[in-house]
Amino acid sequence: MTIKENIHQIKQRITAIAQQCERDPKQIQLIAVSKTKPISAIKEAIEAGQRLFGENYVQEGIAKIEYFQKNHTNLDLEWHFIGPLQSNKSKLVAENFSWVHTIERDKIAKRLNEQRPNHLPAMNVLIQINISNEVSKSGIAPDEMFNLAKIIQELPNLKLRGLMAIPAETTDLQQQIVTFKRMYDLYIQLQNRYENIDTLSMGMTHDMQAAITAGSTMVRIGTAIFGAREYKSAII
Ligand SMILES: *Cc1c(COP(=O)(O)O)cnc(C)c1O
Repeated sequence: MTIKENIHQIKQRITAIAQQCERDPKQIQLIAVSKTKPISAIKEAIEAGQRLFGENYVQEGIAKIEYFQKNHTNLDLEWHFIGPLQSNKSKLVAENFSWVHTIERDKIAKRLNEQRPNHLPAMNVLIQINISNEVSKSGIAPDEMFNLAKIIQELPNLKLRGLMAIPAETTDLQQQIVTFKRMYDLYIQLQNRYENIDTLSMGMTHDMQAAITAGSTMVRIGTAIFGAREYKSAII
């Protein structure tokens, strides 16, 4: 199948899953995760109507963003940074992306706030939660959420929009739903405290169904759109 066909199929699946659990499919945004994939693949996705893209690596993502800014100025693409973010790369992210999904430290939030150029709108950010409590994984513990949210709320160049998680991998649908429901509970708690919370980023190729069932508003899909990733090949 082509990338175009994959996108149409994923959208149909999102609609079908949403209807099954009596949600409005329009509440679920699709991010096409294009990490390691070439410009040509992104172009195909754009031809299928896709506008939201997710990238994990700063340099690679910026090369793509610059390409489309230079060559396709009329496209309203939205770039989401979804990888781990190191302090020394935060300036590049602040200058080029519209969203960051992986905020887990006040230090990074403060840097992004300082480095966000004045001519750009506030950076949309999500707090990453380590929902499966994995020692080696990114994200903060659920009970640290309100502390970090309070700090972010006070930064004028950041706009806190919600939460993101990458749960421990399992193929058990019920287990996936249980974990994602814990995220949904946290999301509702945050929403009850702050006005601008409207985004729960969860669900990848292998757990999209559970994520939507549990209340995700933004799924991040790579493999099911672009095929398997080959890390060894040249990137652009
Ligand atoms: C790579 C990646 C995805 C996409 O994963 P697939 O399994 O290919 O759909 C989503 N979210 C994050 C944070 C990723 O790093």
